Amino acid sequence: MGVPNSGIWSSSELYKNSVLQLEEAAHVMKLDPNISERLKKPKRALCVSVPIRLDDGAIAVFEGFRVQHNMTLGPGKGGVRYHQDVTLSEVAGLAMLMTFKCSLVGLPLGGAKGGIAVDPNLLSRQEKQALTRRYTSEINMIIGPDKDIPAPDVGTDGQTMAWMMDTYSQEKGYAIPGVVTGKPVEIGGSLGRAESTGRGVVYTIVQAAQRLNMRLDNSISVSVHGFGKVGAIAAEEMALLGCKVVAVSDVSGGIYNKNGLDIGAVNEYFAKNRTLKGFQNSDAITNDELLALKVDILIPAAIDGVIHHKNVSQVNAKMIAEGANGPITAEAHKILVERGVFIIPDVLCNAGGVIVSYFEWVQGLQNFFWSEREVNEKLKDTMVNAFQRVSACMDRYKTRDMKTAALITGVDRLNRAMLLRGLFP
Ligand code: GLU
Repeated sequence: MGVPNSGIWSSSELYKNSVLQLEEAAHVMKLDPNISERLKKPKRALCVSVPIRLDDGAIAVFEGFRVQHNMTLGPGKGGVRYHQDVTLSEVAGLAMLMTFKCSLVGLPLGGAKGGIAVDPNLLSRQEKQALTRRYTSEINMIIGPDKDIPAPDVGTDGQTMAWMMDTYSQEKGYAIPGVVTGKPVEIGGSLGRAESTGRGVVYTIVQAAQRLNMRLDNSISVSVHGFGKVGAIAAEEMALLGCKVVAVSDVSGGIYNKNGLDIGAVNEYFAKNRTLKGFQNSDAITNDELLALKVDILIPAAIDGVIHHKNVSQVNAKMIAEGANGPITAEAHKILVERGVFIIPDVLCNAGGVIVSYFEWVQGLQNFFWSEREVNEKLKDTMVNAFQRVSACMDRYKTRDMKTAALITGVDRLNRAMLLRGLFP
């Protein structure tokens, strides 16, 4: 038992942290060790080389991965990440989190993840297209609408999914929109998918505030780390609730105004300038300074591991909503929980994305598309229901933190399904 220190899966912090969280939940719920041992390792992984011709004529070869962690409940589901730090181990850890996330929110889907070790900002549009098409072609034997369904993640978006869908469909000879989710609406995407993760984050914050008797009004300050697909929407929705969003940031740094930023104007400025730098009526701050701000609610919505043992003592928020996957390391999480910080765990907090991915998949299979209002209502119902189940689990097992309760809730459903299906052969 314990976190394996050797072996192909375990080199990344994210994977080790995910196993530690699973072990904690398994211990509290007294999970059958035969099940927890199986859940510590992914079912299968495919490692591929992705060669592309660069604009200057040279050929570059990138490392790509697709990991399927568990497919007991249905096809694998999870994003594809383009980031320079992607490794097989990190993708395996993220696939594990997808398994728990899908199970927790009640989807008939398993957990998977993909990625390419590349900084997409250094590629032209044509190079990104070539990379995406070749990667899709290399993994096409393990993906498909009934097998494993990729979606956007860090560094990828609707356009990436459109190229993946087209490549897969070209190879089969007819349009197969169900192979990916997070597609543009024009080719079978769902209304509300692009905003779903950020919206879901805020639905869980509203629930957490109710649990803590916190009133979400103008006296509540919010900071958002990562002004991207998740953070920008979460900031906007928090401002709509009447809260004061005092700081937001992206990779190059952030902006701060103690009286609250005009998020609509920040969005316009960011869309025009592709940077937050120079936004009027604000002071420039670094990402480290943003994470250390004294605020009521901090939303880390960029990438994993940003709150760790070195900077955790400076974190000064009452509530943290994990918009990203694994933004707090296991060690830092423990320290924050001891300090009484209320943390909404990633597998619950950012589940809105995969929930609307599921809606997109269902709409596509039926060829019957819903209005955005319908999508949002169903998203809200699913998130509120999941939050309440996790909240009840917290009280039942008297866990001090919500992460353990979220994992117990996810693992419990999976455990029953795995026992029913049994072990092959
Ligand atoms: N990449 C997102 C996540 O980590 C969405 C995955 C999906 O929609 O399949 O949850």
